[in-house]
Amino acid sequence: MPKTVLVTGGAGFIGSHTCVELLQHGYDVVVVDDHSNSSPRALERIAKVAGTPLAAVYGIDVRDRRALSSVFAAHRFDAVIHFAAKKAVGESVEIPLEYYDINVGGTTALLAAMHEHGVHRLVFSSSCSIYGNATEVPLTEQSPAGPTNPYARTKLLCEEILDDACRRLPELSVLALRYFNPVGAHPSGLLGEDPHGVPNNVMPYVAQVAAGRLPRLSVFGNDYPTPDGTGIRDYIHVVDVAEGHRTALEHLGDENGMRVFNLGTGVGSSVLDLVAAFSEASGRQIPYEITGRRPGDVAELVADPSAVARAWNWATTRDLATMCRDAWRFQELNPTGYGA
Ligand code: UDP
Repeated sequence: MPKTVLVTGGAGFIGSHTCVELLQHGYDVVVVDDHSNSSPRALERIAKVAGTPLAAVYGIDVRDRRALSSVFAAHRFDAVIHFAAKKAVGESVEIPLEYYDINVGGTTALLAAMHEHGVHRLVFSSSCSIYGNATEVPLTEQSPAGPTNPYARTKLLCEEILDDACRRLPELSVLALRYFNPVGAHPSGLLGEDPHGVPNNVMPYVAQVAAGRLPRLSVFGNDYPTPDGTGIRDYIHVVDVAEGHRTALEHLGDENGMRVFNLGTGVGSSVLDLVAAFSEASGRQIPYEITGRRPGDVAELVADPSAVARAWNWATTRDLATMCRDAWRFQELNPTGYGA
């Protein structure tokens, strides 16, 4: 019997790539997505890339407990992957209460539905942003948390809620994956990052500048204590992130309780490194200007990815050049993303 997995936020950037990875490995995949920051067209692309359809799709908000409960009643889920959340640092400073409502409220609603329907296995989408101003780089899972913005605080709070739930419910098995900066696109050029409106994140912004859709990149600060003064991040290819989720599913049964793992490459790149790599991959100039720091930003976030390597014998395989090449292919083949 194939295993059935519920993917919340399955039409989103990481969700869609993870759905492809799961379908290609024989899982039955059910998607819940309210399309607040994703296109229903991504769902058609998932089926096309994977060569097999999703088992079911529900256009609901995970906080809608009645609707969510009926989804659980209609399927026998072996596990859940919870992506559905808001994820922009800058926006979270502007509308913090929406972030708490959607990210934390969505997670507790999902946990309630899992509990009600006897589903005990969860992979949770966490974030390296919970580490905040890193006192040591690279960051291990034991590095102290110190979130510097509401988005990061919602993710840390969700981890703490999941930990509390695991202490109370010994049958639960939860893996929280703290991803660093997922970028890139599926090598087919059919799936990629297509945020609504002007992108908040640097890679889709740079792609749109390269394509001429946006005039120039604003580089948020060049006075950080880094070699070129711009922020350093550990960019990770979205297909590596997707593979990481599939691998995590396979390890949910190893032991019960709450476990956290970094998902990163261990390689840090500055904003200007990214601009140079994207320029090389696209053959285009990327005009930019240095502007002020963005509220809530930190200087450097780079993973120590060794824990996951030890636990699962798994590591990322795609470098920054591949991330830029694949992001550019998606941009070129889909100049307006998935379309209106
Ligand atoms: N960044 C930038 N210009 C932008 C967006 C982001 O200079 O238009 C910088 C940001 O300050 C950080 C890095 O790019 O140093 C990654 O930001 P992003 O929003 O992509 O991810 P985050 O690390 O905040 O989750």
